[in-house]
Amino acid sequence: IQYNLINMDLKYKMSETETIVNNIALVKKAINVALKASSRAENTTNLVAVSKTRQLDVIKKALTAGQYIFGERSVQEAEGKWLDLKKVYPSTQLHLIGPLQTNKVALAVGLFDVIETIDRIKLAKAISRQINTTGRHVRCFGQVNTGKEIQKSGVFPEDADAFVKTCRLDLNLPVDGLMCIPPKNEEPSLHFGLLRKIADRNNIKELSMGMSADYKIAVQFGATYVRVGTAIFGPRTV
Ligand SMILES: *Cc1c(COP(=O)(O)O)cnc(C)c1O
Repeated sequence: IQYNLINMDLKYKMSETETIVNNIALVKKAINVALKASSRAENTTNLVAVSKTRQLDVIKKALTAGQYIFGERSVQEAEGKWLDLKKVYPSTQLHLIGPLQTNKVALAVGLFDVIETIDRIKLAKAISRQINTTGRHVRCFGQVNTGKEIQKSGVFPEDADAFVKTCRLDLNLPVDGLMCIPPKNEEPSLHFGLLRKIADRNNIKELSMGMSADYKIAVQFGATYVRVGTAIFGPRTV
């Protein structure tokens, strides 16, 4: 009894830094468990820490923990937060995971290392032009609207093969990844499986799929990138 009381008194509360460090470790561990369960090699799924809406002090805690891949939804928000931060942490890989307007392409190509949301020819053309004139190395993923939702971006599954082919052959844009965001109330594995199939038949290496709620399933379906925000930083308040 005495022992339990002492334990209660000393009950330890983690600081925000410790929580973030701990969460990153937990997510990475769960990724490796899922990799093993699906007979995939260790460390073949990368963790994108989704830092949209998060303030600099919070992001720095993840950086200090060794996390170096981050995802942002808005070009403008990312510019404000990452322009200086990337100089301090030069190995950072920044992924654009939100919609991109053609008038922001120059900014995006200058700032991001991976653009995951290429969803139309006009945009692909603008990105290709910018990459080829600046010589900057940016990896390009196509976004597929696997659920064919009107409110979501992405090419429809039946148009994906032609889209990838046009990007590669006509626009000199090396698409080497696909991303999707499954509909909220549907079984995500159907969408992950569909994206995987499209990638396989187009010889596409990278699959960005899975968020906090379903990243373990995505790993089992072959995700090479999972995009996790809430499970690392906690619920978003904005
Ligand atoms: C916000 C966001 C995520 C992360 O979602 P969580 O549920 O917080 O893990 C992943 N991908 C995209 C495209 C997002 O916009």
